[in-house]
Amino acid sequence: MDISKVIQDLRDELNQHNYNYYVLDHPTISDFEFDQKLKQLQELEAQHPEYFDENSPTQRVGGAITKNFNTVVHDYRMYSLDNSYSKEDLIDWEHRIQKVLGNVPLQYTCELKYDGASISITYENGKLKRAVTRGDGFQGDDVTTNIKTIKSIPLQLKGNFPERFDIRGEIILPFEGFEKMNQELIEIGETPYSNPRNTASGSLKLQDSAEVAKRPLECLLYFIVGNNLNIKTQFEGLEAARKWGFKVPKEAKLAHSLEDVFEYINYWDTHRHKLPYETDGVVVKVNDFNLQEELGYTAKSPRWAIAYKFKAEQVSTKLNSISYQVGRTGSITPVANLEPVQLAGTIVKRASLHNADQIEKLDIRIGDTVFVEKGGEIIPKIIAVDLTKRTADAVPTAYISHCPECNTALVRIEGEANHYCPNFYGCPPQIIGRIQHFISRKAMDIEGLGGETVALLYNNGLVKNYADLYELTVDQILPLERMAQKSAENLVNGVQKSKEVPFERVLYAIGIRYVGETVAKKLAKHYKTIDALKNATLMDLVLVDEIGEKIAQSVLEFFSNPDNVNTMERLRHFGLQLELVEKHNPNATNILAGKTFVVSGVFEKFSRDDLKKAIEDNGGKVGSSISAKTDFVVAGDNMGPAKLEKANQLKIPIISETDFLEMIST
Ligand code: AMP
Ligand code: ZN
Repeated sequence: MDISKVIQDLRDELNQHNYNYYVLDHPTISDFEFDQKLKQLQELEAQHPEYFDENSPTQRVGGAITKNFNTVVHDYRMYSLDNSYSKEDLIDWEHRIQKVLGNVPLQYTCELKYDGASISITYENGKLKRAVTRGDGFQGDDVTTNIKTIKSIPLQLKGNFPERFDIRGEIILPFEGFEKMNQELIEIGETPYSNPRNTASGSLKLQDSAEVAKRPLECLLYFIVGNNLNIKTQFEGLEAARKWGFKVPKEAKLAHSLEDVFEYINYWDTHRHKLPYETDGVVVKVNDFNLQEELGYTAKSPRWAIAYKFKAEQVSTKLNSISYQVGRTGSITPVANLEPVQLAGTIVKRASLHNADQIEKLDIRIGDTVFVEKGGEIIPKIIAVDLTKRTADAVPTAYISHCPECNTALVRIEGEANHYCPNFYGCPPQIIGRIQHFISRKAMDIEGLGGETVALLYNNGLVKNYADLYELTVDQILPLERMAQKSAENLVNGVQKSKEVPFERVLYAIGIRYVGETVAKKLAKHYKTIDALKNATLMDLVLVDEIGEKIAQSVLEFFSNPDNVNTMERLRHFGLQLELVEKHNPNATNILAGKTFVVSGVFEKFSRDDLKKAIEDNGGKVGSSISAKTDFVVAGDNMGPAKLEKANQLKIPIISETDFLEMIST
């Protein structure tokens, strides 16, 4: 058997599956099978280092660290685009072109303007050679290692491609992936990212490529440059790139006149909100490469292309006041309280001001009239102050120096944008936030107790930390507002019942910074007891799978605080689970190992949680949403129609609870 051929075939096959999944959006095998094949390839490559290939699909998982990104000179300069904001601007542009070219008939390619970070990727003999950021247009940073982790970017081209060329595109973060990343940050008490564009462009310069691999980035391509390309027009170029395996959005259109261009613009001005990613305009390009060459470039941009910028919906309103919110981790967020105003279908009363730098940059003052815009971001933002309306007595805004809640002097760590209140254990919103996190559904899931009641309990001096919950009595809580005998009893019972919650969830609940649900599970599994975790050193911790230095430091810090140690002792005394109970479940098997299930609908013999537990007890994994990673959907009554469609589309087998029982009964 020719090993090099086996390896090559596997690489080709995996490349094709990556393409099916990430470019065509149409996987033909399950992720489980994909992972198996990838593993097989990894093993073969490890056994035969002589066949190493830097463009093997195994290189996509990342892992290489770049401390300094090399500066590279672009073979072809990366230009900017001139902007236009109206149809008149476009008519003027066409006149300028016609002056140079004479009155030749003109065709234009219309494309969406993707809002991300531009990249230039060089291919040689069909292989990805290097990827460079735009930089100043003449030279940029070599970010090849990071770019290779983006699965929609081909490492090996297909079909009939030129020997060497550069292709340009935009690295973007679709809304869905962006929101998921933010959800995870919120879960561990971190400040979410403010918009997809900055997050995408920040990703390119991350030092750890494995970190980049985890981000759901995409690359949309729009332009090919090189010699002897044998392509005559921009539109042909897009089609060719698509054939070679690149992700080129299908929205591009060939326009035969400016009228067609206007039509395209009008259509996308209203429909852009339905796209899965952000776009802030349309790019119009003279289609014919010969004509492009005749037109040439100005000092900054091609004369043959122009960007048309959509107007973001904008209104002006008055800034009534600025308030400062203190989050669960002490981070301070300034919020603008606005005179309510209608904007893009909703009434806007507040806007985030992000941090002190933003306030300074805007030079925003109480009483100012401000322009508010709703762009890609979910929360509206303040674009600028209408200085013509500023009154003479407007006072420059001084950022607060002390916590609005506990009056502690705020600190700002170098390199971080936000101020925070360092009084973690004495600042009310931080204390309340920590207790609210403790009782939340994924943590201790305390029935009969909600976030508002926690605040009430704290404000009445009944709890100062989550351990105090376990000493609450019905008599103590009865006098509280809206508290009846029954609800007071439920609360106390709920608290008592939470003592059965397993160790990994307790570990998540106690609120160690950066320890989210998944990390808590990992730590619980590895250390098994809270004492073992408490005694772990930095070295021990970073050796645990997926635990980085940031998390490790945070764990050390938590246990170095005597108050926390004391609280843990109290929790132990109350009978909480501070050790992993190795389940000696007689029904446990490994039958479902490597299989991922999604559970949907209502079941007869199981509660949903029991069903999920049965899956895990038998070695399977439970996924939260249907994707190509899903092996089976267990459906009960009332399965959601969207899920059903998704499952059918991905050809994922849908099984009943009886089928499932049969599966595990062997
Ligand atoms: P600007 O940064 O405003 O000068 O706009 C130029 C940038 O728009 C380019 O560097 C590209 O990164 C980006 N861009 C996004 N979509 C396209 C597209 N379809 N064609 C050309 N450039 C695009
Ligand atoms: Zn405070």
